[in-house]
Amino acid sequence: MKKSLFIKILFLLIFTGGTSFNGLVNNVYICKGKYSEKYHYISNCRGLSNCKSSIKEVTQSEAENYGRTLCGWED
Ligand SMILES: [Zn+2]
Repeated sequence: MKKSLFIKILFLLIFTGGTSFNGLVNNVYICKGKYSEKYHYISNCRGLSNCKSSIKEVTQSEAENYGRTLCGWED
């Protein structure tokens, strides 16, 4: 009996922990250059290789707050 309760709690932890973990790792990359208007899911994206300035890692919602849209090389 105790073991099945433990397993239930474990599943609950994995499930709830898993969703918040996804929220945390939802980071994107932006080029800090003046004319950049995109964000990127991967740091070695083709769009970012044109970046003359430095690359910054931010959350996706932060990037959208800066007025960035998703890079055309990704979907
Ligand atoms: Zn990109």
